Formats: sequence, C-alpha cells, structure tokens
Amino acid sequence: MRTALEERRAGLQREIGALTARPRDPVAAVSFGKRVGDGTTEAVERLNTVGAAQGLSAMLSDVERALVKLDEGTYGACDRCGAPISAERLEARLWSVLCVGCALKR
Ligand SMILES: [Zn+2]
Repeated sequence: MRTALEERRAGLQREIGALTARPRDPVAAVSFGKRVGDGTTEAVERLNTVGAAQGLSAMLSDVERALVKLDEGTYGACDRCGAPISAERLEARLWSVLCVGCALKR
C-alpha cells in the first residue's frame, strides 16, 4: 500500500516537473517562428498545460495526505466526516482521503 502510494507520488512529481519545466523544443520553436504574430495556439496549449499541472498537483496533495493517514492509522477513513471510504473507491483511487459524499461536496 505505502509502496504503491510512494510510487504514485514519484510519478506525479515527475509529470508535474515535466509539464512545468517545458524545455524549449527546437522543432516547436522553428514552427512557431513560421507563424509570427499567431500566439493563440501557443497560449491555448499553455493554458491546457497549466490546467493539467493543477489537476496533477491536486492529486499529488491527496497522495501525500493518504501517506500521512497511513502513519496516523486513519487511512481508509474520510478526512471530513470520518466515515469509512468504500473498498471499491480505495481500489480505484488508492489515495482517496474523502468518502464519495464528501468528495462530491468538495
Ligand atoms: Zn465523508
């Protein structure tokens, strides 16, 4: 359980790092140069990247919280109402820290 969560955390950190670093791709730079003045595609792409990075960051904070809950012995219990989180939900998302009801309200 802990190992799976730690692997997930490492994977997310890598993905976020890759998204936010955006190393300059020489091929992309050349094609961008061909349509000077048209920054729309680039801007939309940038927004998508920011959105994706935010989603991943939110997931990462849940994974980190789930690891803390393992230490606390509260893993599997909802952080908001204390109700047990269903096994199916935990199976689908190991890092669930809220029950279905509370997650919907978040
Ligand atoms: Zn709850």
